[in-house]
Amino acid sequence: MADHNSQVPTPASDDAFAEVKAKVDLVKVVQEHVRLTKRNKDFWGLCPFHQEDSPSFKVNPQMQSWYCFGCERSGDVFTFVELIEKTDKRGALQMLAERAGVELRKLSPEQKERSDSRKRLLAMLKLAAQFYEYVLWSTPAGEPGRRLLATRQVNEENARRFQLGYAPAGRGFAEYLRAKKRSLADAQEGGLLRRDGTDFFAERLVIPIRDERGQPLAFTARTVRADEQRKYINSPETPAYVKGRVIFGLDLARDEIARRGHAVLMEGQFDVITAHGAGIQNAVASSGTALTDDQVRLLKRFTDELLLVFDADRAGRQAAQKAVLLAAAHQMRTRVATVTGAKDPDEFLRAAGADAATQWEELAAKAPSGFEFGMEEAAAGLNLSNANHVELAARKLRDWIAQFPVALQEDYRERAKRWMGVSGHLLAAEPDEKRSPGRPGAYKVGKNGLETSPAGKKMTVGRYLLQLLAVRPVAFDLVRTKITLDELDEEDRGIYERMLETYERGGVSGLETELAGYPAEEQDLIRRAWAAPPPNVDDEVAVELAERITLDHMRSRHSGIIRELSEAERGKDSERVARLEAEARELGHAIDEMERRG
Ligand SMILES: [Zn+2]
Repeated sequence: MADHNSQVPTPASDDAFAEVKAKVDLVKVVQEHVRLTKRNKDFWGLCPFHQEDSPSFKVNPQMQSWYCFGCERSGDVFTFVELIEKTDKRGALQMLAERAGVELRKLSPEQKERSDSRKRLLAMLKLAAQFYEYVLWSTPAGEPGRRLLATRQVNEENARRFQLGYAPAGRGFAEYLRAKKRSLADAQEGGLLRRDGTDFFAERLVIPIRDERGQPLAFTARTVRADEQRKYINSPETPAYVKGRVIFGLDLARDEIARRGHAVLMEGQFDVITAHGAGIQNAVASSGTALTDDQVRLLKRFTDELLLVFDADRAGRQAAQKAVLLAAAHQMRTRVATVTGAKDPDEFLRAAGADAATQWEELAAKAPSGFEFGMEEAAAGLNLSNANHVELAARKLRDWIAQFPVALQEDYRERAKRWMGVSGHLLAAEPDEKRSPGRPGAYKVGKNGLETSPAGKKMTVGRYLLQLLAVRPVAFDLVRTKITLDELDEEDRGIYERMLETYERGGVSGLETELAGYPAEEQDLIRRAWAAPPPNVDDEVAVELAERITLDHMRSRHSGIIRELSEAERGKDSERVARLEAEARELGHAIDEMERRG
């Protein structure tokens, strides 16, 4: 549904962001939430996004950028409002536009029509939820629904929290709408009625899927009939509902998520309903799909940590691993709890009865981190005193680690080594050009004594150069004549290219204007550099770093040629041997030359 966004009432072009940004002052916006003290050119305060006693939250008024040295969050005025108001980018734009007196672009007639029809649809869904809930509790027709809830041990208080309802057989909802003189067409568009006017969810317990503010967007419905093949049916996608963008239960769980500092993510709606009944009120579910990128992004507005509780079967464990990786890609921490003696959390909690809260706490307390869970999965069924099995486990672990963001891999490799014990050496990264002798992966910039960045990540030459260019874009004039893109490490290439383009378009102030459009990871790197520049940022260092990159690249090519050479010798390919020898010699001279100068 590519046009979903355009159906939101306020279309926001990049212009709108730029206009608003130009009119609001980040310092003033932040000051409404944080007491700031001026130190030199910058402002410091206690970070509103993590608990701390001494200020590590820094606002750079010149760049209109903020960075926290404690939790490493960073951003511009929009991200600040997004985080502090727990809204999204569009919501932040709207709030700041109002404040700045910027009128967002007027809607075209079609956009207005779409926006109105979406509003009507939302009102219809709300009405339907109320109708079904009324039928469930206040009419004889609701009896089958009440019976189903009783067998599921869901009491009325809890059912009402989720606004569960019952759709009776026949045309009950259509008749209700006629009596209220409401349009049946809207109800059909919302997937509530069939064409003949019968109820789409007839003879089913109806569960509203609501957004994080409690507005029903769709329904999922469970049959009460034993002879019905399709246990659950769902609303179709509509202008109001896109599958994979909603988190079930988030409207009810958000406060408890904030209080506990993490969300409990389950698979099914009934898992969540039962969990809330048992007092686990930070439980939510991905609802109807495997966890999606959009859902992780939504959750990240409320927390940085997920406790995953998936079904105990193979499919559930695989889903858990995927969720761990997806969360890691968004810099979220995970833990994985495994229910034992039950097929899903719902069954587990019901079996525990009055003891559910205690048993749950025990389960949660021993939940390993998402990474550890994956390690255990990799070694499951293998005997680590058998050499073949050890090798197999090591291979699986390497695959598991390789799927995490690069920044985490080194640490994970260390932890995996300790976990494997004596056979840990098998986990050493496979021979790879980058780590070949003569080209250390994490080069120490000796003169400056700078081995690691403030975030504790390994500082490579490429990273140092990128930080320098973030603080001193004018150095691009020198650097771009010295290095070519293919000389950079793969992980540095994209951001370098983007920064260079920005510089060519917008000069030294281009980065401040265009940064919001950069991928999150790249924004982080640049804002961190603005907050904590590397020790030396002059042209001389820039040239030195560029030359170092060229040299490293030449060395790695050199060892590549040497490897190829021995292959060619083994294959007795004399022509190729001669050509490679010449290449290696030439490159070797060039390297010597550069080293002598450097
Ligand atoms: Zn912080």
